[in-house]
Amino acid sequence: MTAVAESEALAALHKVFGYEAFRGEQEAVIEHVVAGGDAVVLMPTGGGKSLCYQIPALVRPGTGIVVSPLIALMQDQVDALRALGVRAGFMNSTQDFDERRMVEAEFLAGELDLLYLAPERLRLDATLDLLSRGKISVFAIDEAHCVSQWGHDFRPDYLTLSLLGERWPDVPRIALTATATRATHQEITQRLNMPTARHFVASFDRPNIQYRIVPKADPKKQLLSFLREEHAGDAGIVYCLSRKSVESTAEFLTRNGIEAVPYHAGLDAGTRAAHQSRFLREDGLVVVATIAFGMGIDKPDVRFVAHLDLPKSVEGYYQETGRAGRDGLPSTAWMAYGLNDVIQQRKLIQSGEGDEAFRRRAQAHLDAMLALCETAQCRRGQLLAYFGQDPDPAGCGNCDTCLTPPETWDGTIAAQKVLSTVVRLQRERGQKFGAVQIVDILLGKRTGKVIQFDHDQLSVFGIGQELAEGEWRGVVRQLLAQGLLAVEGEYGTLVLTEASGAVLRRDREVPLRKEPKKPVGSRSGSSSSGRGERKPKAAAAELSEELLPAFEALRAWRAEQAREQGVPAYVIFHDATLREIATVWPTSVRELGGISGVGEKKLATYGEGVLAVLTSLDAPTGAEARTEAAGSDDGWPEMEGEPEPDDWM
Ligand code: ADP
Ligand code: ZN
Repeated sequence: MTAVAESEALAALHKVFGYEAFRGEQEAVIEHVVAGGDAVVLMPTGGGKSLCYQIPALVRPGTGIVVSPLIALMQDQVDALRALGVRAGFMNSTQDFDERRMVEAEFLAGELDLLYLAPERLRLDATLDLLSRGKISVFAIDEAHCVSQWGHDFRPDYLTLSLLGERWPDVPRIALTATATRATHQEITQRLNMPTARHFVASFDRPNIQYRIVPKADPKKQLLSFLREEHAGDAGIVYCLSRKSVESTAEFLTRNGIEAVPYHAGLDAGTRAAHQSRFLREDGLVVVATIAFGMGIDKPDVRFVAHLDLPKSVEGYYQETGRAGRDGLPSTAWMAYGLNDVIQQRKLIQSGEGDEAFRRRAQAHLDAMLALCETAQCRRGQLLAYFGQDPDPAGCGNCDTCLTPPETWDGTIAAQKVLSTVVRLQRERGQKFGAVQIVDILLGKRTGKVIQFDHDQLSVFGIGQELAEGEWRGVVRQLLAQGLLAVEGEYGTLVLTEASGAVLRRDREVPLRKEPKKPVGSRSGSSSSGRGERKPKAAAAELSEELLPAFEALRAWRAEQAREQGVPAYVIFHDATLREIATVWPTSVRELGGISGVGEKKLATYGEGVLAVLTSLDAPTGAEARTEAAGSDDGWPEMEGEPEPDDWM
């Protein structure tokens, strides 16, 4: 980049976006694209991909064309840019003829910095024709992994994007994705026909996300306490495997005083759009969803992502959890995981469609996910290693295994007891049973089913009194995860594997992770606050007590602005910016302009308003105690709903 272009890029960063400095790879990417080069950019969610094409579009002459599959989000993206004073528009099927005509005219007149298009529209002759009549600065292909036929986000229309290079050889192209695997990376380069592109691969670490995986006992109740104790009033996403559990979980949360809406492919398009829009616009709404929800959701203040079911792969887990904390503030990725998950997923793979190769690949994905769940090492370290990055050998200090290192124990004898019960049933009776029956036999429980099959006559009956039921389930789960036990058929019966023999012959030891008695607590670990006391919202987590009222007042002011304009709150200012305002407490427009996230346009539009909010409050030195207006904590409704049995049989 020439010195002039470089200073222009930096000027845009300061003036338009109000940011101090480029982050990570941004500067290198922007320099390369501004100079006319093609780029393939792999950056995690929240890494700052948008600036990588938005700034080149502002600096280079002409309009930047952004190809995005996310029609429902285009309006918000364009609104956010306009709030920054960027001349942005979009063309998609939600517009009527006149609206589209207007955007076309703006484009042809050179009055647009950025134009968002869906790939299916770009492909049309009319669109290509329109584009050839105007001037284009850069093509940005967002969510570029949609070109991959292996991923679940595949969009056939992405395949036609390879024509852009042929038709506009002089316009630089930049393909961006948060999908980290090498295979996807190669596919993007090939299918988009970008052989000379430079590749930029950012670190995939998301240090502000705390990873936690807890043993599943009563998942809904566990979720409820997690939300109440750590994320009261926060926006977040809860992922479930089935539509049915999405519905019932959303209902359960609502009944217990947490505003939650469902989202899955079985809901009609109108309801889905309405729920998504509410999530983006309202502060603190919870969306309970299947994996159908989330791609492209660029809400910066998602404070938690919870999984009530095991994702099918580490890639999926990473993508989904990555939607938390784009703004860099502390966030939690929380998952409840149990024996049922392993059995259910293994069954799904066996009974699912696809050939042997497909099954083997699915199995390998699941094994990697299980290894992450069962590890006694740093979770972040495992994740990074999975994506080919070197983790910090000392651990991350911000995952459950780092915060509360799990104990391990020699589970060889316990493993032998489980395996010999399986062997005996099969050899002596020719029977196969699921985990519940095996555990009941070990515990010596005379249940109806035990008596019916005379299982109290087996020599292994009652040999496992030393462990509790939950602990036995933990043993079975870990044996499944380690491949020392397998699941078979539609009932998920347990059978031995080739590796089981070594354990039974005492040739192999089986180290197991101890099931924690109590779930790991909050991020600080210093839960000195009384029980049931509401913790500050995570967004405000590191604000001192005396600055909280200012932060809350600014949020309330922002909510009002957002409502008036019909845009999401983060389009006005991000939480991170409001935090900094509350901390710095600017007293002049000039001082306010120095805060990260306050560019020229926003300063002009909201400067006076923000200063007025601060003037109306006591300056931070008046450290009088303020209590939350929300009232007492005793006001929470009792938990409702029966505890759900772990109903996998
Ligand atoms: P991605 O598209 O990679 O998920 P975004 O482009 O949405 O990420 O950026 C994530 C967040 O980081 C946004 O809130 C954005 O405004 C902010 N951001 C991006 N670049 C910078 C920067 N250089 N300085 C400060 N904040 C930034
Ligand atoms: Zn760690």
